[in-house]
Amino acid sequence: MNWFKKFMYGRYGVDELSIALLILSIILIFISEMLSKYLYAFGLIAYIPILLYAFRTFSKNIYKRQQENGKYLRMKNALIVWLKQKQVRAKELKTHKYFKCPNCKQTLRVPRRKGKITITCPKCKNKFKGKS
Ligand SMILES: [Zn+2]
Repeated sequence: MNWFKKFMYGRYGVDELSIALLILSIILIFISEMLSKYLYAFGLIAYIPILLYAFRTFSKNIYKRQQENGKYLRMKNALIVWLKQKQVRAKELKTHKYFKCPNCKQTLRVPRRKGKITITCPKCKNKFKGKS
């Protein structure tokens, strides 16, 4: 294993983005196996993420690979926050309604079945009418 340690010296190695690329490739290969009768070229596309995985792992441009991973993690976290927000809203669908302040675009939550109401934005104090 000593030769491998020497080989990997100064190289980037595996990070979260690389693992995601590897998983993506496995999923794509699996799908392409199922669709192989219909889409021949799809099988080749499935290997692109695994090539990126290898390129990133053995890359010596550590700074650039860290930047890519950081970008990936920020996008992943934004997606998780967005999905959690959707989940919360789906749970509250029967009890609350969401409005967007026409002035500052702030999202506001009001209880349902109150009829026509005047909503005051807590952020910019703008008042607007809505039906809950
Ligand atoms: Zn507002």
